[in-house]
Amino acid sequence: MTYGFETLAIHAGQAPDPHTGAVIPPIFQTSTYLQDGVGKPRKGYEYSRSSNPTRDALQECLAALEGGRRALAFASGLAAEDTLLRTVCQPGDHVVIPDDAYGGTYRLFAKVAERWGVDWTAADVTDIDAVRAAITAHTRIVWLETPTNPLLNVADIAAVAQLAHEREALCVVDNTFASPYLQQPLALGADVVVHSTTKYIGGHSDVVGGALVFADQELGAQVEFHQNAMGAINGPFDAWLTLRGLKTLAVRMDRHCDNAERVVEFLTRHPRVAQVIYPGLPEHPSHGTAVKQMRRMGGMVSFRVVGGEAAAVDVCERTKVFLLAESLGGVESLIEHPGRMTHLSAAGSPLEVPADLVRLSVGIENVDDLLVDLSSALG
Ligand SMILES: *Cc1c(COP(=O)(O)O)cnc(C)c1O
Repeated sequence: MTYGFETLAIHAGQAPDPHTGAVIPPIFQTSTYLQDGVGKPRKGYEYSRSSNPTRDALQECLAALEGGRRALAFASGLAAEDTLLRTVCQPGDHVVIPDDAYGGTYRLFAKVAERWGVDWTAADVTDIDAVRAAITAHTRIVWLETPTNPLLNVADIAAVAQLAHEREALCVVDNTFASPYLQQPLALGADVVVHSTTKYIGGHSDVVGGALVFADQELGAQVEFHQNAMGAINGPFDAWLTLRGLKTLAVRMDRHCDNAERVVEFLTRHPRVAQVIYPGLPEHPSHGTAVKQMRRMGGMVSFRVVGGEAAAVDVCERTKVFLLAESLGGVESLIEHPGRMTHLSAAGSPLEVPADLVRLSVGIENVDDLLVDLSSALG
């Protein structure tokens, strides 16, 4: 019997505790475990860096939701990325990364991995010919992030995965913006899914975390070895909070999408808005690919304000329900100015974003309140 997504989110890896009948997996706040004899750990648990039952519950649920063979949970999205990178790559290897990758991902490759001899090329991953041209004889990973931040470009996962495999490279997909409810990269041929679980998976802006999900058991085992060897695990309480958030992912994502669609409709008609950027709009350059591989278009919306940078900053400082903050994916709506906040470090680089751009993470509040808030901020 296979269950649907919503059922798996609530039950996968979360059988009631056999000892007490507790319906919710306990927070196993312990560093070590009683052994039944010398070198005989009970049920395989010996030390919580290596494994912990609360973390296991989260990992099992994530694997089920992404359709993977194995999942591993980490202290943050970047800890997950770093552990994957150092498992797969050696000095002399090469990776292809999106030319509009999440800033922290770009920094990890450009400022950290490069020092250890791993070379990289940034390419427009929405253009399959550009990806093909960027791959070298030493390429081990073709890294996708889709949709991207903040311009919401969408890469064709199936096409890139096929190309990567022809060149004996792995296709890794950062699925943070879509979540497994809206997009299933492993089913499209990707080898590894990356998450910042800080965002939609946790969903309540109360915990930082990351995850990797693997199509292949063997690669999962290799990364698990490195996770234990390098130590970037999340704690039991963080794993529990993330799992608690994950249970409602499907209902939250549907409401994020409903509200985002209404916000897009409102902004499109507003005279002070120069352009609305949302993959659900037919004029978005990635619309065709997005429709092909995503269930719905998500809760992230960007727009350009008439009047330039000062006007965009002004809008960000005038909303009341939309909170002025970085990050995304929580139940509360957030607004930010990428040029001066999340993407400040990209100024002058190929990752630079337009100065009149505003990014919204549309939350699940009453949508009329969101529209009134935007309306009064836009003046
Ligand atoms: C936030 C984010 C990350 C990094 O995750 P952390 O949990 O902050 O380390 C990676 N990729 C994307 C797309 C993100 O939004």
